Amino acid sequence: MAGIETNPDTIAAISTPPGRGGIGIVRLSGPQAAAIAGQLVRLLQPLEHGRARLADVLDPDEQETFGSGDSAGRGNAARIDEALVTFFAAPHSYTAEDLVEIAAHGSPVVLGLLLGRAVDLGARLANPGEFTQRAFLSGRLDLTQAEAVRDLIEAQTLTQARLAASQMGGTLSRRVAPIKRSLVELVALLEAGIDFAEDDIEVTPQIEIARRIAELTPPLAALEASFACGRIVHDGLTLAIVGRPNAGKSSLFNRLVERDRAIVTASPGTTRDPVMERISLDGIPLELVDTAGLRDGLGDGPSENLQEAELLGIRRSREALADAALVLVVLDATQALNDEERRLLAAVGSRAALVAVNKCDLLGERADGSADAGCKSPELAGRTVVTTSALTGEGISALRERIMTLATGGAAAEPGMLTSLRQRQAVAAAVTALADAAQANATAIPHEMILMDLYRALWALDSLTGQTAPEDILNLIFSTFCIGK
Ligand code: GDP
Repeated sequence: MAGIETNPDTIAAISTPPGRGGIGIVRLSGPQAAAIAGQLVRLLQPLEHGRARLADVLDPDEQETFGSGDSAGRGNAARIDEALVTFFAAPHSYTAEDLVEIAAHGSPVVLGLLLGRAVDLGARLANPGEFTQRAFLSGRLDLTQAEAVRDLIEAQTLTQARLAASQMGGTLSRRVAPIKRSLVELVALLEAGIDFAEDDIEVTPQIEIARRIAELTPPLAALEASFACGRIVHDGLTLAIVGRPNAGKSSLFNRLVERDRAIVTASPGTTRDPVMERISLDGIPLELVDTAGLRDGLGDGPSENLQEAELLGIRRSREALADAALVLVVLDATQALNDEERRLLAAVGSRAALVAVNKCDLLGERADGSADAGCKSPELAGRTVVTTSALTGEGISALRERIMTLATGGAAAEPGMLTSLRQRQAVAAAVTALADAAQANATAIPHEMILMDLYRALWALDSLTGQTAPEDILNLIFSTFCIGK
């Protein structure tokens, strides 16, 4: 592909994270990469594809006081660091261009010196994601694979990393390929019918077109549906834990987090600020928000009796409730539902919610058997209720499972899931275009018109893999990468 011709300049960046570390890497890519590297450091052996070479990083301003320069008159400058230089010759590199990685000590001073000198020698500072953009432009990666590179770097759980790695390996692209192939075949069939209409070539019958479109639809619809799970694995979810003071929200939160993050206390209303913690529930990042007891000031007395701070906490709880994708309502098994809780359940409405009836360990201690009043309330009918004890740990694993089911809607992770809105929009556009084509075909419209819809579907699939993505969209995507990648 035309990668090298379109990128005549050589780019440079520090590819390791900012700050100090054992090792830091300066990366160069482009036609001048090897030449610039050769001047940046004193190589002890010539560069060779795929091999690491020892080199000295020289201080351009300091004359060497010990040792001597080589016979060619080089090496008069003092050594400031040693480095390992690896060269990858075009097209067998990440960018498909000549690429050099200089691994020195992870000192911002040394790396800054190398980068500054690389620029003096004719390199240009790389934009965020420009190495990967070059890999994409050279055809080494398609757009879904390039996005997966970013996702792998940003992964917070091993499950996310696995998903990104499989997408980097092309699972999504491979899933799309046969769909696209069938679409192209159908387009070719209709085009042939139009081109040779006067030559008595038989026009594809309406029923055959309908059959082919019908065959294309299920895999495309399944691909679109995969976003439900892909999005969750990719982005994670927020779960707000709400309920009246003292129901055991913080204790349950801690059980889920499995370490003492929120303050647990026997007096109501102390969790005034929402406490947040990110956990990995079966590899899905779940942000837990523990909120203050949700009271609106009307339930248990006049609002002036409530402390200002608690009011603030309650307001934040309502905000957390509004923002969260999932809600966990915590009830106290030893208490009957009160008005406040009824209002809370009404506020939760039909949202994705679970009810934990907590403190079940205390139920046995009640002689009159009235303890489970909360569980039997008609307000809980139709809701998923889990009986828990934050004290003994009973029901906690069931609670985790239910949260998972609620989060994924029961959908299991599969290879080649859509993970971003961009990808989903592309597939949704293809699904719509295909439905339009089916409808056009059903009304016996001229094939030219059906073809317009089919081309629209094709274009949408191509934009998914980046074959037809407009430049500004591409720039937008790559600008979300870190520098040096
Ligand atoms: P929050 O105000 O809803 O966050 O409630 P906390 O988590 O602070 O708990 C209030 C009190 O109930 C504390 O004394 C906890 O130790 C106690 N508690 C919480 N969960 C349970 C439980 O499952 N069983 C028992 N016996 N006590 C609990």
